[in-house]
Amino acid sequence: LFDRAELAPADPILGLTEAFNADARPEKVNLGVGVYLGEDGKLPLMASVREAEERLVAQRKPKSYLGIDGMPAFREAVRGLIFGTEAQVLADARVATVQSLGGTGALKVGADLLHQLDPEATVLISDPSWENHRALFTRAGFKVEAYRYYDPEAKGIDFDGLLEDLRAAEPGTIVVLHACCHNPTGYDLSLEQWDQIVAVLDERGLVPFLDMAYQGFGFGIAEDGAVVAKFVASGQDFLLSTSYSKSFSLYGERIGSLSVVLGSADSAKRVLSQLKITIRTNYSNPPTLGAALVATVLTDPDLRASWETELGGMRSRIKELRQVLVDGLAARGIQDMGFIAGQLGMFSYSGLTKDQMVALRTEHAVYGLDSGRMCVAALNTGNLDRVAGAIASVRSK
Ligand code: PMP
Repeated sequence: LFDRAELAPADPILGLTEAFNADARPEKVNLGVGVYLGEDGKLPLMASVREAEERLVAQRKPKSYLGIDGMPAFREAVRGLIFGTEAQVLADARVATVQSLGGTGALKVGADLLHQLDPEATVLISDPSWENHRALFTRAGFKVEAYRYYDPEAKGIDFDGLLEDLRAAEPGTIVVLHACCHNPTGYDLSLEQWDQIVAVLDERGLVPFLDMAYQGFGFGIAEDGAVVAKFVASGQDFLLSTSYSKSFSLYGERIGSLSVVLGSADSAKRVLSQLKITIRTNYSNPPTLGAALVATVLTDPDLRASWETELGGMRSRIKELRQVLVDGLAARGIQDMGFIAGQLGMFSYSGLTKDQMVALRTEHAVYGLDSGRMCVAALNTGNLDRVAGAIASVRSK
């Protein structure tokens, strides 16, 4: 049987990390993976999360199973965060929410639900998108195509192309959209552009699937979440995956949520029952720690305030790092990369070619993706100068 298993290609990002780990040069810099690192180059443990964990440990609670849909306090807290505690749509019981194994788990549970309901639907993802979108929806059984998004000439979004592709999509097509901090480009739609997208999706009878993995990293928690309210206001059904990997620095705890917003409480009840079957037959029920940490931080006023400050600190630090990089490049004669400062979130589409990215790796031990994507959230004052010098060097060849 297992002779039939072919050797799959290595995951491009994890493969890069392996190459990085094997690199003996002490000055090496990994801008490949999508994690936020502090000034010391290490993954932060947020003070609010640490305090929440200490409180939880002190309680010494037994480790029982959670319900299939996860921890009620967690679901309640994140629904407030995403939709607003006073949101009418929550009072109307029109949202089915489940705890998920990170943002990825939310996407997969949502994809499985959608495939159950409409196996023939096409899924549209942005061109380019987070690599796992295509793989995940393909593996869930869908045909996956792309809508135009990034315009390399304009260093921005091909908005007309995007609208045209959505208008041309068959009704029932599932459209995956990055709610904020687009991965990999760092270019987000303006609120006015979102209005148009929301209207076209509605008119065409498309099925929006919003992926929000970076709430709080763009302009702020409420600002980044504003797009969700636009979809709710439009009255159309949609799915929303969220991740707390980045915003709570809880990557390994695998904590996220999936919400499906529907037209009636009855639909929400039926959809929730189907989501539970998907979960039950995959991993039965989710783990406790991440959910308990997020719920504790969000519901305790002091911890919540501290978390918001810390997240705001991460957001503004990334913006500063972007600016210092742009200044460092300008000081080396590279004047046309100022766009990096205006991009949002952890990533920058640098516009560097594959050859330049390879040269960055081989000649300068600076690791980014061949697509030109770099994780600016992994820069710090200790490595910024080297990275700017390395980019200037490969650009001048
Ligand atoms: N969606 C996007 C756009 C992402 O960038 C990521 C994480 N890199 C995810 C989903 C998955 O998040 P998680 O790590 O919580 O599974």
